[in-house]
Amino acid sequence: MWKHLHTLGIASEPDCRKCGMEEETAQHVVCECPTIKTIRVRLYGETVLLHEKFMEGPLRKIARFALETRLSKLRNRGGTMGQA
Ligand SMILES: [Zn+2]
Repeated sequence: MWKHLHTLGIASEPDCRKCGMEEETAQHVVCECPTIKTIRVRLYGETVLLHEKFMEGPLRKIARFALETRLSKLRNRGGTMGQA
C-alpha cells in the first residue's frame, strides 16, 4: 500500500518505515522485516515466516501479531501511538 502511495507521488519513500532496508510491502513487513523478528520468533518460532503459514492462522495469533507489530497503525505515520 505504501508503494502505491509512492507511485502516486504522495509518499516520498517506499522503504520500510521499520527497518528502511526494503520496500514496505505486506510480504516484507509480515514475513521478513528484521525489526520484528523477535515477535515472529515468539509467536511462530521462526525468524522468517512464510506468508502461507501466517495466513493459516489461527486468527487469534494473526491479531496478536498485528497488534504487537503495530501493523494496524502502519498507515498513520506519526499518529496516535502508545496505547498499549
Ligand atoms: Zn522492514
